[in-house]
Amino acid sequence: MSANEWKINPHTDSIQYLGGWLTDPTYRGCIVRESSGRMAGKWAVCPRDPWTEEDHAVTYAGTVEEARKALENVTPGGHKCEVLVNQYLGHCPERACVVTYSWEDDKPVRGLLLCRVHKVKTFADAFRVSVEEWETGNGPITHESGPIIGERISPAMAPVKRSDFLSQPVIWGDDWGSHVLGMKLAQDVMAAIGTGADDFVSTGDLVVFKGTGAFEVKSVDVIEIPGAGTHYRFSCNGGATYLAEHDSAVPVLYLPF
Ligand SMILES: [Zn+2]
Repeated sequence: MSANEWKINPHTDSIQYLGGWLTDPTYRGCIVRESSGRMAGKWAVCPRDPWTEEDHAVTYAGTVEEARKALENVTPGGHKCEVLVNQYLGHCPERACVVTYSWEDDKPVRGLLLCRVHKVKTFADAFRVSVEEWETGNGPITHESGPIIGERISPAMAPVKRSDFLSQPVIWGDDWGSHVLGMKLAQDVMAAIGTGADDFVSTGDLVVFKGTGAFEVKSVDVIEIPGAGTHYRFSCNGGATYLAEHDSAVPVLYLPF
């Protein structure tokens, strides 16, 4: 946890920076006093998004003290999604963008942290706000305050008995150290493009199967299942196939950038 150190813009005290100057890696966001419009006189609280490196106002405060406290509440670097993908892959490693909540005795009680993929279907009917907005108003999220009981479960990387499988994955489930696990919506999973020597060739997504490893998607079929909606069938190397529902989360391996 970095210190809550504030810097005031040398040209105007209406802009103040938390953690360091704008170009500093320790910079955590700013507060800005609005000079005109509906919010004139109020302070916009603008946490830094570490992924986009942009600041967006997530709430407004009446005083500089309240604005500072609100921004100090936002956890630098954010939080991870809390969905347990399965026992083999552990908890979702993606960054959480929203948090669900409910009301108890007129107070909001936080629910589950969800990434951009899992938020589509998980607790879709629950109240939800951005993680930053929740923290500005309710204080920093701690994992003790949330649904995960005990430690987050990481991918097991359990030994895979290679001779048990006729189809060989591109990457065995106990040997993916060179890649990182992520989540994609089923409809965003890409097949390989191009087969001939003259074609532009791209590799397909590496979809993770429980227990064996990751197979490369060679083609995608859209299947309408009566009563169950749109599904996608990923035909992968070695004849492996994977069926996923529209809007569901599919575990994939990425090369680190
Ligand atoms: Zn997730």
